[in-house]
Amino acid sequence: MPFVKCAVDGCNTRLQPILEPVLEDRNTWIYPECDVCYRPVCDKHSSHMDGQLVCTDCRKKAIAETHSALIHLDITPLDER
Ligand SMILES: [Zn+2]
Ligand SMILES: [Zn+2]
Repeated sequence: MPFVKCAVDGCNTRLQPILEPVLEDRNTWIYPECDVCYRPVCDKHSSHMDGQLVCTDCRKKAIAETHSALIHLDITPLDER
């Protein structure tokens, strides 16, 4: 029986379903997943951003994009002041 695992590099934490609509059918089970890349992620590798669950990979990407957008606008990101 394959388990759903966290998709963040080198983690492989086995995920617990958050919803089991049909107990006998694992295909219906709902696991916590990133709202950006839709990969399953564990608690440790996900965080809430703007009301969405975002994995650490997408979070890093989003932060990098925000930073380059701010640099483009010649605004120094808050945490680098
Ligand atoms: Zn993601
Ligand atoms: Zn993880």
